[in-house]
Amino acid sequence: MLSIKEIYKEGYGPSSSHTIGPARAAEIMKLRHPEANFFRVALYGSLALTGKGHHTDSALRKSFLPKQVEVIWRPEETLPFHPNGMIIEAYAEEGGALVDHWEVYSIGGGDLKDRHGLINGKQVYQLTTMTDILSWCRREGKTLWEFVEDNEGSEIWDFLAEKWQTMRETVKRGVDNEGVLPGPIKLARRASAQYTKAMNSHGTMKHVGLLFAFALAVAEENAAGGKIVTAPTCGSSGVLPGVLFYLNSEEHLTEQKMLRALATAGLIGNLVKYNASISGAEVGCQGEIGTACAMAAAAMTQIMGGSPTQIEYAAEMAMEHNLGLTCDPVMGYVQIPCIERNAIAATKAYSCAVYALSSDGGHKVSFDQAVETMAETGRDIQVAYRETGMGGLAKNWEAFG
Ligand code: SF4
Repeated sequence: MLSIKEIYKEGYGPSSSHTIGPARAAEIMKLRHPEANFFRVALYGSLALTGKGHHTDSALRKSFLPKQVEVIWRPEETLPFHPNGMIIEAYAEEGGALVDHWEVYSIGGGDLKDRHGLINGKQVYQLTTMTDILSWCRREGKTLWEFVEDNEGSEIWDFLAEKWQTMRETVKRGVDNEGVLPGPIKLARRASAQYTKAMNSHGTMKHVGLLFAFALAVAEENAAGGKIVTAPTCGSSGVLPGVLFYLNSEEHLTEQKMLRALATAGLIGNLVKYNASISGAEVGCQGEIGTACAMAAAAMTQIMGGSPTQIEYAAEMAMEHNLGLTCDPVMGYVQIPCIERNAIAATKAYSCAVYALSSDGGHKVSFDQAVETMAETGRDIQVAYRETGMGGLAKNWEAFG
């Protein structure tokens, strides 16, 4: 299993698989072939179906600069290894000789894979199931963040401190920014008004309202193409920072507690990525928002003093109760249902943490079983509901909107 650094990537929204992944592929191809002056990128399957709404072409053009690039959309074809496939061709110049071509897949969270395996994939963890990790915790008398530190080394804390800083900046920017989000839906940002209303409320309205505001702030920044940290993807990047920012402002926690929570959340995301998928095109939104919700539930449970078993329970519940969640972005934009979904998932993560903390940690379904079920469910979800913009809300919006 790779480093949790691969879960938390800084980049620009709105989609890790449709912008960060293709942008990385473009950078790699450009570095491999400095002699090439013209590139042609053919996008296949889900990358082509929702690529326009996800700004895949502009991410590619930006990354290939100052070289020329032509983007070709092939929505009717899918390449063999993943729904998000692309073929990048490098030419000496437009109309000139083909220098090289590369079939590469954007497999979620900004990661890339080709026929030879993962790109930049250094294996860091030997244990790859929560069951084995919990046995390690029991044996060593340590908790989950210590497991991360033991495997990643102490430099992980500087890395996580940087990501936490970016997450906080994104929340603050998102709470300040107002206006309409880019794209034809003309969806207005809500985080700012939500924050003001929450601050002028009391009790539950205030607390749930703030949680909504912070998660919305990041999701809206992502939709606007702003800087975010994937957690584990762009589309689901508001859930974890939303919950952590809320807890930090309410409970006045130390920086160390926040970083340790990020370590445990990263481990949860990593386990899902390794054993199932965090790609909406592969398994639907359960792999994106479901995973983000599990990460945030685990982080909060740890912050509030939960044991490893209670942390595992919270993550399991969050995953279990997002099973079957489809991906049907309206007009291919990461806006409806994505933005509200981040806010709702933040409250669900909060609920799962409270539920697990009020229990003794005993439960019947393990996190590993929930993850395996998510992978199976994802394979059974029809392709129209896996980031193609052809089914669900995307279809009915077109029919009745
Ligand atoms: S519906 Fe979920 S998986 Fe699909 S684009 Fe939106 S956030 Fe990502």
